Amino acid sequence: SEGRIERALISVTDKTGIVEFAHALVENFGVEVISTGGTAKVLEEAGIPVTPIEEFTGFPEMMDGRVKTLHPKVHGGLLARRDSKKHMAEAEEHGIQMIDLVCVNLYEFEKTVAQPDVTFEDAIEHIDIGGPSMLRSAAKNNDSVTVVCDPADYDAILEEMHVHGGATTKNTRRRLAAKVYTRTAAYDTAISMWLNTYLELQDEAIDPDDPFDIPSVFGMQLTKVQDLRYGENPHQTAAVFRFGSDFEQLGSSPNPLVGAEQIQGKELSYNNFLDADAAWNAVREFDEPAVVILKHQNPCGSAVAGDVTTAYDRAFACDPKSAFGGIIAVNREVPLSLVEHFADVNKQFVEVLIAPSYTPEALERLSRRQNLRVLATGGAEGHAKLELRSVDGGMLVQCVDTVDEDPSEFTCPTSRKPTDQEMRDLLFAWNVVKTVKSNAILVAKDQAGIGMGPGQPNRVDSALLACERAEDACERMGVEPTGFVAASDAFFPFRDNVDVLAEHGVTAIIQPGGSVRDDESIKACDDHDIAMIFTGTRHFRH
Ligand code: 5GP
Repeated sequence: SEGRIERALISVTDKTGIVEFAHALVENFGVEVISTGGTAKVLEEAGIPVTPIEEFTGFPEMMDGRVKTLHPKVHGGLLARRDSKKHMAEAEEHGIQMIDLVCVNLYEFEKTVAQPDVTFEDAIEHIDIGGPSMLRSAAKNNDSVTVVCDPADYDAILEEMHVHGGATTKNTRRRLAAKVYTRTAAYDTAISMWLNTYLELQDEAIDPDDPFDIPSVFGMQLTKVQDLRYGENPHQTAAVFRFGSDFEQLGSSPNPLVGAEQIQGKELSYNNFLDADAAWNAVREFDEPAVVILKHQNPCGSAVAGDVTTAYDRAFACDPKSAFGGIIAVNREVPLSLVEHFADVNKQFVEVLIAPSYTPEALERLSRRQNLRVLATGGAEGHAKLELRSVDGGMLVQCVDTVDEDPSEFTCPTSRKPTDQEMRDLLFAWNVVKTVKSNAILVAKDQAGIGMGPGQPNRVDSALLACERAEDACERMGVEPTGFVAASDAFFPFRDNVDVLAEHGVTAIIQPGGSVRDDESIKACDDHDIAMIFTGTRHFRH
């Protein structure tokens, strides 16, 4: 008759009161109890006869308990309408036996995610699937099935069965069904709230213990490529991040340094990354075969030539002492001869070699220097568009310094115009001086940057340094210290810069112009018969 309970399925995580409840069902009302693994064990140990779920379904519990009761024999037995001839015939045909009572409480998801150090995987495993499914099937069929999701209801149900000859009343079954949907709704809400919070926290990068847990900038994706051994100094923690491919503004370079193939060598350090970046950005400015040797952010050797091996030789000759432990950047495929020249002829110690590609012979020779870091950027040209730097409490963002300058728009305010050879060297020097830290003066001769004056807090000292280095270079090479040109990354505030450069054999100068005292500098040039070019564009690099 309606509501009579002959077969019950019991599957509970919270085992409170379950032995007493099951015992009463069996002893007082002759109910057959089906049960899942853990529950069956508890009941059997209490001497209560139980049909294991696998016997009932003919299927084992599997996948670490993810699939225990998800079976048509369970859900058919719960959902079949007892007043439908069709349903009952179909149940008969498929050997489905009716289940009249479901007693289920769920995996303790809420308790699990309330623990402070819960893992994502642990939380996921505590999402109950079979339990809510049975509760919902049984609750839907409340016409015939009694559903119990709360141990607090066990006694009242037994009481009612006692009064009604082993049956529950329709009203009770409906109230229990409503309770089930309240419970499963709360359960799913707890899951969705946890998962959404998890995702938000991930977006906000709020791991307070990990300063490098910064998955996004400007809301765009950043991926940590690697942790570095340390930062600029050993006591500084550091890591490298890569902009996502969707990061148009910052990652638009088709051949970024981060992502270049490291063919061999030790892991790149923080300083290696910084210097390789500066060297690579400098060398790819040139159309002709060019080599830049960079050390501590400054190009201590630079040259263009008909081929990169000659360019390397000339770049190295600029300042062999500084080149030791430097970074070599090449804007063409590296041939064996270039490798032989730095490895065998000059015996130059090199931190990083960076180029678009390498010939197989060059790679073979390089492989004998196991520690040397060799980077291949691939063929394409291009720059990222933005540059980020942090300041205390914030971040500075600027477009990178890649303005297209048209030499035909440069002006010459001096009486003497540069010769063709001077002009060629001036344009070379103008390209390289952008890479030198400000205040920057670069002295060049025959398309090689032989004298560099970087980073002095006044421009005259930079000019002096550059000239002295250039004279040293000439002495080493056994050539006359003449035919110098000079580039200045920003205008001359006074004529003293010109006077210093003139004194050291500079015959032509390139600089932005734009000082209120440009006239004085122009006069100084004319006094020394120097040709000077104004570019109109400044290239500070701080
Ligand atoms: P037991 O301790 O009996 O092994 O497992 C009882 C728990 O398993 C109950 O919380 C119940 O909701 C849950 N459960 C029952 N059937 C399934 C199923 O097919 N899949 C999952 N994931 N949980 C189930």
